[in-house]
Amino acid sequence: MAFPRNVVEELLVSCHRYCCVCQKFCGSKIEVHHIVPRSEGGEDTFENAIALCFDCHAEIGAYNPKHPKGRKFSPSELRRHRDQWLKLCSSISPFRTIEGLPQITLTEKDLEDFNAMFEKLRVDDPRLTQHLVRLLFLKGGKYPDRFFAFTMEKLSSTNEEDRWKAAEIVKEFSHWNYPRVDIELLNQMAIDDFFGVRSVVATVLFDISRANPTVVPLETVYRLVLNDDWYVHTPALATLKSLSPTRPVALDLILELFRIGDDDHKDLALGALKDIGEVNPEVLSEETLEPLLHEGSQRSLATYQELKEKLNNLPKEKKQQYYPF
Ligand SMILES: [Zn+2]
Repeated sequence: MAFPRNVVEELLVSCHRYCCVCQKFCGSKIEVHHIVPRSEGGEDTFENAIALCFDCHAEIGAYNPKHPKGRKFSPSELRRHRDQWLKLCSSISPFRTIEGLPQITLTEKDLEDFNAMFEKLRVDDPRLTQHLVRLLFLKGGKYPDRFFAFTMEKLSSTNEEDRWKAAEIVKEFSHWNYPRVDIELLNQMAIDDFFGVRSVVATVLFDISRANPTVVPLETVYRLVLNDDWYVHTPALATLKSLSPTRPVALDLILELFRIGDDDHKDLALGALKDIGEVNPEVLSEETLEPLLHEGSQRSLATYQELKEKLNNLPKEKKQQYYPF
């Protein structure tokens, strides 16, 4: 006997024809395996079935107890692989309607046709973008590269909203795998005419500054700090604050902002220095604060004294290590 057709169909639909062990897309190159072999009393039921790619199926069958090498797949482990993957499939199913967005669902066809799917994305609700990027990732590398190339193309579109939607994709992508986000691409986004794109890249740079401070392009961050738009310069300045303990140049750039001379930039710089004084006062020194002393305004002098006071009484225990914005 073999598995009845309805059991096979139910399983292949539930797993989206992905291998339950290595989570590779298999298409027709998939097999349904008995978790407990029929020779040992295993039944032809859904409970005893797991969908596997040819490689994993061969791996599982190849274990020789007379010459034990490596670790055998046990029936209970295989069952857990299956249950884990099916649970993920049901929670991220492309066919599932997103809560609160009843009209928008991604179909398997959308995943093949990025343009159709891109039409459905909305900048005012990131959930679909998040869902999509997660899905592309969990589907074992079938789509991400192709999709990323597509996103880059959209970033050069003449349509503002398309560029914004593409920027949101880059942002979600960076949450999943920031080392794979091209820094050149981020630089490109930072000089976009549209503030929405610049705002997104500023938040991406902030996220990266916390994950891996060394790769953040400081010139790009500084360019964003000089933007008039609050939604752009606030996360960019938060990035400089966040980098100040590991990259001294970040602190120099905040002082550079102070030296520009107009009140708005001075206020931003003084605010940033005060925040650093709260979170990482050891980053500051009397020497770095000197420009505040010589500038002459009451505000600068007050900030200088406040921070100098902090330096004289450095707390023994560190406070929170992040800068919310
Ligand atoms: Zn496999």
